[in-house]
Amino acid sequence: MSTMRKRIHSPLSSMRPPQPQPRFRIQPISHDPDILALVNDSKALLREHEPGPVDLLRPRGGSNLFFTCEHASKRIPESLENLGLDAAHLERHIAWDIGAAGVARRLSEHFDATCVLQNYSRLVVDCNRWTHADDFATTYSEDTVIPGNMDLSDTQLAERTKLIYEPYHQTIEDHLDQREQTGRVTVLASIHTCTPVFLGESRPWHVGVLYQRDTRFAHVLMDLLRSDGTLVVGDNQPYALNDNKDYAVPVHGERRGIAHVEFEIRQDLVANDAGQSEWAERLHELLSTGVDVLEERHPELLTSKTPSHEHHTQLGH
Ligand SMILES: [Zn+2]
Repeated sequence: MSTMRKRIHSPLSSMRPPQPQPRFRIQPISHDPDILALVNDSKALLREHEPGPVDLLRPRGGSNLFFTCEHASKRIPESLENLGLDAAHLERHIAWDIGAAGVARRLSEHFDATCVLQNYSRLVVDCNRWTHADDFATTYSEDTVIPGNMDLSDTQLAERTKLIYEPYHQTIEDHLDQREQTGRVTVLASIHTCTPVFLGESRPWHVGVLYQRDTRFAHVLMDLLRSDGTLVVGDNQPYALNDNKDYAVPVHGERRGIAHVEFEIRQDLVANDAGQSEWAERLHELLSTGVDVLEERHPELLTSKTPSHEHHTQLGH
């Protein structure tokens, strides 16, 4: 655990071209054998008739594009009794990224691309956070207390992590590993949406393009989006991607050294089917052109790499 924390908190020099970083396995929340035994024995969190945590679309999709959607669902396991919230709160952005799954599913179809979506709400565990983050199973979101997340025991947290968070990230990791081992190029796009008003403040951006150290793909996409002329495009707005806050793109994209981007589409634009279709078509065109431009500007990102065994030795498994 300490090794990984050290890695994530020691930023690489931003002057250096991005380098592939060693991979690591998903971090369990606890190494305490008693806790893990309890979790292994437990069937309490998810009941038999409830869906598993991962919705995997087109696992053998032919596209270079690979989509993820960490905040796709507002579903709460029945055993958690809506986390003590009125049903109305579970429709709000605090529970999920409204419209994101609809856009991601359509993109998967347009491209014949693999897409991995989380089937449970970010209020249960946030799949775009590190397990040690304060808001991993948040007790407070925007202006709302989450009663069912107060005073969680290590066992409860470990159970959510093991049954919901880990399978999601393991699915992504396994697919990306396999693509790399078979010499397939991957361009990772994580689909999110954001609330148009946060704590009383309006957000003007139609869409935000989020990235951290590696600007290569994000800048191509921003140039293309801005040339549209009708859109207000956020450059790392409404917030900047960073290792402390975000998990999916820094880990699965940046550290792996593959082309990557995170989108934040404003939720009022994709709240219904028509909006989701419109934005899926827009992003389909954008990403198609974007990959072509990327091939001219940064061909190294679209060249398959020789499989490396380096990380296996480093991780000692
Ligand atoms: Zn999100």
